[in-house]
Amino acid sequence: MRLLSEPAPDGLEAAVAEMPADGAWRVGLAIGYCSSGVGHTARATVDTWARTLRPRTLLLASPRSFCAGVERAIDVVERLLEQCATGVYVRKQIVHNTHVVDDLARRGAVFVDELDQVPDGATVVFSAHGVSPAVRVEAARRGLDVVDATCPLVTKVHSEARRFAARGNTIVLIGHAGHEEIEGTLGEAPEVTVVAESPADIAALDVSDPSRVTYLTQTTLAVDETRETITALKKRFPQARGPGANDICYATTNRQQALESIAARADLVLVLGSTNSSNSQRLVELAQRAGTQAHLIEDASRIQPFWLEKATTIALTAGASAPPVLVDEAISTLAGLGPLSVTEHTTTTEDIYFAPPAAARSRS
Ligand code: SF4
Repeated sequence: MRLLSEPAPDGLEAAVAEMPADGAWRVGLAIGYCSSGVGHTARATVDTWARTLRPRTLLLASPRSFCAGVERAIDVVERLLEQCATGVYVRKQIVHNTHVVDDLARRGAVFVDELDQVPDGATVVFSAHGVSPAVRVEAARRGLDVVDATCPLVTKVHSEARRFAARGNTIVLIGHAGHEEIEGTLGEAPEVTVVAESPADIAALDVSDPSRVTYLTQTTLAVDETRETITALKKRFPQARGPGANDICYATTNRQQALESIAARADLVLVLGSTNSSNSQRLVELAQRAGTQAHLIEDASRIQPFWLEKATTIALTAGASAPPVLVDEAISTLAGLGPLSVTEHTTTTEDIYFAPPAAARSRS
C-alpha cells in the first residue's frame, strides 16, 4: 500500500491511498483536505486508515452466532408481538445482545428490569437466562400472563438444583455471582447453595457436611477453567458429585472449540457480542489465553483501525446471542480494507432446535 499526498489549488491537499491488486494499483480512498487546522486531523485519519489496507486471510469459526436457546427466546417475543394487541413486556434482556433487544424494542416489545414495571394482567416474557421461583410467585400473585422463554438447558440446571437440595446436599454453584442465570438457579434453593467462581473460592468454602456436596455450573462458562474449578472441588471434597461433567451447554462448548482451533494461528481475534454476554466474554478470554490479541465488539463499527495495522490473519466468531448478520457485516468491512481470503473452520455442525413453549404458539 502507498499513500500519496499532493498539493492542490486553494490551500487544499489531496490524499490518495492505493494498494496493489491483480498486478495493478487500485485506489482505496481519495480525499481533499485543508493543509492546516482540521486538515491535519484529516491527514492523520487518512494515514491511520491507509495503514490498515493490506491483503488478509479471515478464519471464520464455525459454529458461531445464534444457538437454539437464543433463537427460541427471540421467536417467543416475535410470536407474541404478532398475537398480543395489548403489548408484550419482557423481564430483563431477552438475550444478552444489544442489537437483538433494540430490534425487538423497535417492534414494540417493552423491556423492564422487574415485574413491578409491568401492569397487572399484562403479558410478560421471562428471558432465556431463567428466573428464580420467587419471580414466578410474584408474577402469579400479580395475575400476569407469563410466557417463559427460559432456555431448556437452563431449566435442566434448575431441576438439578431442586433434586440435589431435596437430598439435603450443599450445592456449589460454579458461575459468576450476579449473572442473571446464576441468580435464577440460586433462587431454587438459596439456603443450601453457595456460588463459587474459581478454585480460590473452592478453597474458601465452609460446608457443614463435606460428604454431602454436589455441584452445578452456569451454562456459559469457559470449559477449561470450569474443569479446573471442579477438580479443585473434588480434591477438597472427594465425595462431591455433579451432573456428569458439567452443565456447560453444547453451544458454549462448540463455539469455544471452534475458536480454539484457529485462535493461535491468527494475529487478531474479533468476537461479536455484547459486553454482558457471558459466552462471548469467554471466547475473548480463550483467544487471549492462546496468546492472540482479542476484542469483543458489538458490531463492525467498533473495529479499531489500529488493531488491523499488523494483522494479516484475523479470526472471527460470534457469541451465541449475536445475530448472524453482524458476522456478514464484519466480513464486508474487512473486505473493504483489502483483498480478503475467507476460509471457514468447522469443528462440528449443530442441528439442535427447541420448540417454542405452548403459551407462545397460539393465543387465538
Ligand atoms: Fe441455552 Fe446455551 Fe444458548 Fe444459553 S447459550 S441459550 S444455555 S443453548
